[in-house]
Amino acid sequence: MNPNNKRKLDIIVVGTGLGGASAAASLGELGYNVKVFCISDSPRRAHSIAAQGGINAAKNYQNDNDSVYRLFYDTIKGGDYRAREANVYRLAEVSSAIIDQCVAQGIPFAREYGGYLANRSFGGVQVSRTFYARGQTGQQLLLGAYAALNRQIAAGTVKSYPRHEMLDLVVVNGEAKGIIARNLVTSQLERFSAHAVIIATGGYGNTYFLSTNAMNSNGSAAWQCYKKGAYFANPCFAQIHPTCIPVHGDQQCKLTLMSESLRNDGRIWVPKKLEDVEKLRKHEIKASQIPEEDRDYYLERRYPAFGNLVPRDVASRAAKERCDAGFGVNETGKAVFLDFREAIERLGHQKVAERYGNLFDMYEKITASSPWEEPMMIYPAIHYTMGGIWVDYDLQTTIPGLYAIGEANFSDHGGNRLGASALMQGLADGYFIVPITIGDYLSKKFAEPRTDTSIKEFTVAEKAVQARIDRLFAINGTKTVDSIHKELGHIMWEYVGMARDAEGLKTAIKLIKELKEDFYKNVKVSGNQFEFNQELEKALRLEDFFEIGELMARDALNRNESCGGHFRTESQTEEGEAKRDDANFMYVAAWEYKGEDQEPELHKEPLKYEFIEVKTRNYKD
Ligand SMILES: Cc1cc2nc3c(=O)[nH]c(=O)nc-3n(C[C@H](O)[C@H](O)[C@H](O)COP(=O)(O)OP(=O)(O)OC[C@H]3O[C@@H](n4cnc5c(N)ncnc54)[C@H](O)[C@@H]3O)c2cc1C
Repeated sequence: MNPNNKRKLDIIVVGTGLGGASAAASLGELGYNVKVFCISDSPRRAHSIAAQGGINAAKNYQNDNDSVYRLFYDTIKGGDYRAREANVYRLAEVSSAIIDQCVAQGIPFAREYGGYLANRSFGGVQVSRTFYARGQTGQQLLLGAYAALNRQIAAGTVKSYPRHEMLDLVVVNGEAKGIIARNLVTSQLERFSAHAVIIATGGYGNTYFLSTNAMNSNGSAAWQCYKKGAYFANPCFAQIHPTCIPVHGDQQCKLTLMSESLRNDGRIWVPKKLEDVEKLRKHEIKASQIPEEDRDYYLERRYPAFGNLVPRDVASRAAKERCDAGFGVNETGKAVFLDFREAIERLGHQKVAERYGNLFDMYEKITASSPWEEPMMIYPAIHYTMGGIWVDYDLQTTIPGLYAIGEANFSDHGGNRLGASALMQGLADGYFIVPITIGDYLSKKFAEPRTDTSIKEFTVAEKAVQARIDRLFAINGTKTVDSIHKELGHIMWEYVGMARDAEGLKTAIKLIKELKEDFYKNVKVSGNQFEFNQELEKALRLEDFFEIGELMARDALNRNESCGGHFRTESQTEEGEAKRDDANFMYVAAWEYKGEDQEPELHKEPLKYEFIEVKTRNYKD
């Protein structure tokens, strides 16, 4: 498009994580007028800042025979053949350019002695292609994207709206034309119009209440788009990360991830003998006192080829299997060891500290136990959602003019995301893909005048948001929002968690509906609308989490096969591995909203693999 015409076009970007910040900066640089929104007080406080371990790219710096094809292959296989081939291939192609861009921005990636960028390995692959900045990769990458964004803000191409929460999408004549946002400081509802809207609001893992996600992470913007006509794809594909600090009480509202990078050198085990488990639980012995021959390094035993570096879904299920068999090493029986003793002996204290020092410090601060002396205790926890808004190859949703990027879309990870691939996807979408693909849609729009926000569609959308807020304050019950959200989390973890079956999923749908009714009778949203009110923010998000949770259960019930992180107990091999059903389920499940209390309609996008042979995943030999 003629650069002069880009100046006539407005784009709304919702979200300033790696996806949104990089998209807004790139679109500004291209000459569009961008309005960028986020919940936090500064764009740089997005959840992406929490990412620890690294970002993948097929640079082959280690000369270990990496290639674009191999990254593509690993990602499709890691996702258990449930991702769209073309999108994943493009992701692998773009990966190299991301690293170049970030290095040019000055991201302090770890380097080898000679100055080359260093790499480490992540689960599900046999090459080293993960670039990292100690255990703070997300933070450093976000600082780079934020700097690029600020450059555009200073240049006047981007206007930033921090502390603004999108509460509805405005659709005019079937096309996305704007949003209704609540100014979280003044509490006013505000209207914003544009020629196109990009959703970059992250994942919906907090449906489970306890997760490794930031407290502000939510699924609401994506959900409002769904209710306005955007299909929602593969909602049941939620990732459970094997290495998180175990739950340690009823009052907890957040779980902490211990980066997957630790599995490069840490070895996972439980005792072989139940007597040792008992003694550990009673604090009569320490892990370090259990001799080598009495330790069961169960991942190395079951998956010799990949060992501790099997993908997350496989490692999580294996931990659950050992704990369910009674070998969990803490009081609750829900923990396994991640041990660095051998690595410290082999590499020395300094090398291990260089690689993982800040993660060790973090672990010690939270648990008061030093990983230098005793192994870490870890257990699987909800971490990431592969499902999300359905998008085509251009990352456009089923609503023309509405795009979805980063964790908010469903596109690249199938049934299981490989470690260090979310940052790659967010930055690929934001820096390189959507800034170009959106031009195809906008090239037909530059002669269109800006949409006037006083038209009926904006008024109706704003009134609907106001009605939701009024309804919440009118309930005036006795239960806090968090206490009900916690109940939802229990239902989700119990029935839509690591192992799912038809009966449990039907129970989940019933219980979620009942809990939702309870919420509308008994919740107390304290304060009022006309102040900075985080209870109101949480209540609005919880309304959507009920519906997201229900659709997750419905999707899981429909998908009567096991694949990736979605494990249906009815569909497993004799060895307890996930058993896919390619004949019946090799499709993307895209759900269409049909109205309040109506059954959503399922659309199936068949998956065709032309450049990769579809096989049963094997990490054993
Ligand atoms: C602890 C942890 C460690 C991780 N480590 C890694 C790693 O090492 N490598 C890797 O590849 N991946 C990692 N991940 C995953 C990765 O960090 C995320 O998938 C990714 O950062 C998501 O980026 P995003 O831009 O899509 O969304 P986010 O970073 O979640 O940003 C969402 C943005 O949307 C805004 N927002 C949300 N809702 C609204 C609304 N309604 N209105 C306005 N704004 C809104 C938020 O304010 C925020 O700015 C990790 C995840 C966690 C939880």
